[in-house]
Amino acid sequence: MSNVLSTREQAAWSLSGDWLLVVVNLWKQFQPEYGRNTPFGSQENNATDLTWLERHRLQNVQYFILLSLLISFSVFYSMGGYFQYFYYIKRREQSEEWKCQPNKFLTKENERHEFIAGSVNMACGATVSGILACFILNGGYSTLYYSASERGWLYFVLSGPIYYLYIDGVSYYLHRTFHNPYLYKKIHKHHHRYHQPTAFSAVAMHPVEFFMYQAVMALPIFTVPIHAGVFLTVLMYFYYYGMIDHSGVKMDAIWPWQPPSTFHDNHHQYFHCNFGFNSLLFDWMFDTLRKEGRVYGEDIFGGRGRSIENDKEK
Ligand SMILES: [Zn+2]
Ligand SMILES: [Zn+2]
Repeated sequence: MSNVLSTREQAAWSLSGDWLLVVVNLWKQFQPEYGRNTPFGSQENNATDLTWLERHRLQNVQYFILLSLLISFSVFYSMGGYFQYFYYIKRREQSEEWKCQPNKFLTKENERHEFIAGSVNMACGATVSGILACFILNGGYSTLYYSASERGWLYFVLSGPIYYLYIDGVSYYLHRTFHNPYLYKKIHKHHHRYHQPTAFSAVAMHPVEFFMYQAVMALPIFTVPIHAGVFLTVLMYFYYYGMIDHSGVKMDAIWPWQPPSTFHDNHHQYFHCNFGFNSLLFDWMFDTLRKEGRVYGEDIFGGRGRSIENDKEK
């Protein structure tokens, strides 16, 4: 089991390079003056002496991007590879014991597809994260703050659950919107070609969709004061369960609010239901939880399936 733990811990270091913001955060804790001593902080510098990158607070951006790509891919491949090797290869014959959908596997073509699509999104996400981290570290605009007491402890403590609910709610709506027949066929269907998802499926989707989720998560760091530690903890949590929930491996979460991995696996199996990711709250509120005794399918839109009687009449 120690392997499971170590892989989970690695996953906590994020999928798309946002770990770099961890570095920014730590750096700011110990070097609060960094960024103020950039050419922008000094009155002596003439703005015309600055390079294009310096003017946009992106000096050394190439190192940020390189490092971001390097670590993102290491984490993505080691976690995805772990599940592939220890479950999909070593325990393939015993899939009744561990798999959400026993004896059903992706085709070789879909395995290749998710690996390539996931890697491309990962590369783009890590590049953007590297640029953002560089911008913030060089003193660029952000509403992140670094001292927990700066806005009071109550604000600090409550901002975590609020940020969590914000992501859970907005990603529910966003995901449900992508299940509208038009958007589903044009965009979201790419993610749903994986009827038996694996950890690599977590970021294998249409790039438009991928960037919308990324934007939802990143928006608060430019709009609402949020402690960098709170932001990163919640973000890492979401990435971690993003991969676990697509792994295809039956797992209960340690947190009572987090659904087991079968919840999102069911979404891939039954299509238009279970739209949430990190709680059942919004599916429960809008009656889109999968129910026994209803019929679901890729052409049954709306989130509530069809009654068995109606299905028999057809
Ligand atoms: Zn979906
Ligand atoms: Zn999915």
